[in-house]
Amino acid sequence: MKHRVTLIPGDGVGPELAEAARLAIDATGVDIEWEVHDAGAEQMEKYGTPLPDHVLESVRRNKVALKGPITTPIGTGFRSVNVALRHELNLYACVRPCKSYPGVKKSVPGVDIVIVRENTEDLYAGVEFEAGSEEAKTIRSWAPNKIREDAAISIKPISVEGSRRIVKFAFEYAKANGRRKVTAVSKANIMKYTDGLFYKVAREVAEEYKGEIEYEEVLVDAICMQLVQRPHHYDVLVMPNLYGDIVSDLGAGLIGGLGVAPGANIGDEAAVFEATHGSAPKYKGLNKVNPTALILSGVLMLRHLGETEAADRLERAVAEVLAEGKYVTYDLKEDRNDPTAVGTREMAEAIAAKLK
Ligand code: NAD
Repeated sequence: MKHRVTLIPGDGVGPELAEAARLAIDATGVDIEWEVHDAGAEQMEKYGTPLPDHVLESVRRNKVALKGPITTPIGTGFRSVNVALRHELNLYACVRPCKSYPGVKKSVPGVDIVIVRENTEDLYAGVEFEAGSEEAKTIRSWAPNKIREDAAISIKPISVEGSRRIVKFAFEYAKANGRRKVTAVSKANIMKYTDGLFYKVAREVAEEYKGEIEYEEVLVDAICMQLVQRPHHYDVLVMPNLYGDIVSDLGAGLIGGLGVAPGANIGDEAAVFEATHGSAPKYKGLNKVNPTALILSGVLMLRHLGETEAADRLERAVAEVLAEGKYVTYDLKEDRNDPTAVGTREMAEAIAAKLK
């Protein structure tokens, strides 16, 4: 079956990584027609926006996109393209599998967890008020003993609907992927209404899966220590936006760093697959950085497209190249200055060669 996929190369190291990922994914033999569209600061001049409508339309039409990282310029008027994409397409679930592969130095062997992060609410909803603003003054008047006069204020909305759909997503993901347990993470002992609501809803959803998928709750501070000390105890973890952002970087650290951490942003209408890492501007155009994270995001994409067998083959090819440790980028070598390290393209070619 032929698939149409939107490819957004991104900027910084994005284009070279996108090219590498496309090469490896195409080597599986899955018939993909790539529709390439650019987004980011360079589109501003031409279209007046870093995220032109035709990019969004393409993703809406194809329902699936593979995306390289996009830089968020500091101090300019526009919002992060990454955040705008998630918002426009209502990609409410951020899925970050953290699986360690033999051969990846600094990874904890045997880790295989999946972090499901809510992508639309929480302190990241963008409801913020400057210190001294009228809004901040009004809010302060509700709790003058708790908020200092010179405080800036962020609002943390956590809704029943937002919590229910993300927890349900986590359970459905667990079911579809043969996982046994979902751990809900929050800080409900302190934030009784917001995080308390998250747990209340999570318990209700967990009831629907009783006997099928195990459910437990761990506070966010505790999970950080537990994931370092006994990561094998965990399986699928679901949490609100801010905790998810932080805990997924911890997860990336457990499996050897950003170069190997894939991800996906999924909604009911579309899914965008992208690495956890950013555009690493200092490495732009050097054919140097690790393509593994984006190629593994491609593995997730193939699974999403129903191409399970090809996804398994591509994942095995990546695992073999990592285990052999020969055709790998500098960050995967014992010594980062190892002259035998290969470039982005060469590593992708080594992975593609395993699929022949
Ligand atoms: P970054 O992830 O781009 O880079 C941090 C460091 O991690 C790099 O200097 C490099 O040492 C390492 N690294 C990252 N990717 C790697 C790879 N594939 N192989 C080897 N090493 C790798 O983080 P940053 O510097 O904080 O962000 C740069 C820009 O990217 C910012 O503008 C940020 O907003 C943006 N960003 C975009 C996304 C996205 O597109 N989804 C995600 C995160 C950050």
